Amino acid sequence: MPVPMLLDLPTLLVIATAHVGVVSLALLAIIGTGASAATRCVQVALAALLLGGIAAITAGSLWTPVLAPVALLFFSLGLWLLHRALGSWLGHRSRPPTNRKKLRKPLRPGVYYGLDYRWSERCLRLLLVATPLGYLLGWASPAFQWGWSHLCLAAMLVLVAAATLFPLRHMGRAWRWMLCGCLVGLALVLLARGLVGEWGGASLLPFADLAMALAVNLAFVTAMVALLAAWRDEAKARLHTLAMTDGLTGLLNRRGWLERAEGMFANAVRYQQPLTLMMLDIDHFKRVNDTYGHEVGDTALKLFARLLRESRRTGDLVGRLGGEEFCIVLANTHRSASIGFDLRLRTMLHQTAEKELGFPLDYSAGVGVLKDGDSTLSGLIARADAALYEAKKAGRGQLVQSGGGAGLTVI
Ligand code: GH3
Ligand code: MG
Ligand code: MG
Repeated sequence: MPVPMLLDLPTLLVIATAHVGVVSLALLAIIGTGASAATRCVQVALAALLLGGIAAITAGSLWTPVLAPVALLFFSLGLWLLHRALGSWLGHRSRPPTNRKKLRKPLRPGVYYGLDYRWSERCLRLLLVATPLGYLLGWASPAFQWGWSHLCLAAMLVLVAAATLFPLRHMGRAWRWMLCGCLVGLALVLLARGLVGEWGGASLLPFADLAMALAVNLAFVTAMVALLAAWRDEAKARLHTLAMTDGLTGLLNRRGWLERAEGMFANAVRYQQPLTLMMLDIDHFKRVNDTYGHEVGDTALKLFARLLRESRRTGDLVGRLGGEEFCIVLANTHRSASIGFDLRLRTMLHQTAEKELGFPLDYSAGVGVLKDGDSTLSGLIARADAALYEAKKAGRGQLVQSGGGAGLTVI
């Protein structure tokens, strides 16, 4: 005898909840617990959705007045956490590169913080409380509870979907569109079910139930694929950053610096803008290691890197080329800017080294400027390097500029 196939709301809800449970465990097993904050947010969001699903299934037969708002609370919590994860992945939650404590207002808030994201975050927090609370307060009117819960969940889904649209950080487009599409689709189905339940009459409700249950399952599978792709993008971006960063000082390493400097060089040539490049080498650094030990040498390198970072302007590109050799591209500046930069850095170094290290530290610097006819960055680097060599030869602790031609100027 053929077994009738049940495709009703409770069955599909159980299937969706089972999906969430299995995927939550699988993600925990694959990604582990040492993931980024965003990925952990997704893991907790899935746990919340799982609890929401269990509460919703149980509410169908037991303690509905208590469990239905609990289910709504967990669903809302899951969506809010998903929104936070998207905020981290897409750069909305990252801090500006300046010291925030010093600033009363963030610099260029629209760019660094993403005003739209902050607005939707506030709305989601409000809905997180308002959705179950409104449901509880409307206990006397099941029609209100029905409409309220559907409307709130649909609004939350749309807000989460909107967060995928305007990334501040470069992340894959395919998964963002996929996630956005499935969240908006689910929101529309929820809205339709809410309307049918309120005004559509009993005959349409089974179809709306079926559509919603199917949409929940489809949206969940699609969302999972999208979230895994987001996690892969994040891991790729982290690896790329690691490959470009110097582990000791946190500055760009040779590879990272060269990659970015090539871009700045090409722009300066294309738009005929000035460009100045400085090579800096700490003087007698070997002595520091020999006298105070390698660890103190490392501390001195970190201090030098920090001061370099503090004395540059926004847009300048600092890197550690290797050992005790650093370099900086002063964006859109003429040769004279290097003198100002050198003065700032040297003064800071003289004031800080004695205090923090217990001994003085100095450096030599060579400057090269972009000339007409320059076609490669390496030519500019070679000129700055030659100037650095002259600075060392001339007695160290000074800045030497390579002239427009072959001439060198000792400052
Ligand atoms: P000069 O004034 O001619 O530049 O002399 P110098 O001693 O600074 O230059 P030299 O090239 O002879 O020595 C560089 C030293 O930097 C040797 C090396 O042990 C040390 N060094 C390179 N990388 C590191 C590092 O990561 N940590 C520490 N502590 N020392 C490093
Ligand atoms: Mg040196
Ligand atoms: Mg050196």
